[in-house]
Amino acid sequence: MKRQKHRLDDHDRGYQCCFCALGIEREGDDPCFLTLHSSSDQDPEQEMYCHAGCLKKAVHVKFPLMVALDD
Ligand SMILES: [Zn+2]
Repeated sequence: MKRQKHRLDDHDRGYQCCFCALGIEREGDDPCFLTLHSSSDQDPEQEMYCHAGCLKKAVHVKFPLMVALDD
């Protein structure tokens, strides 16, 4: 099955961060888009938005992120 690439422009609603639950304005890398797959069932997926800054705080520094944020 061919998977369609998600585009942020497909949505006209506001974005809400899955880490802090606040709204996200379009600026720089915001909003970031996350897709979650579990090991038990790989077909269903959950899609969430977040602030680049909240994602950076949540992920250990050992795992560099592609978002361009100042330290
Ligand atoms: Zn946030």
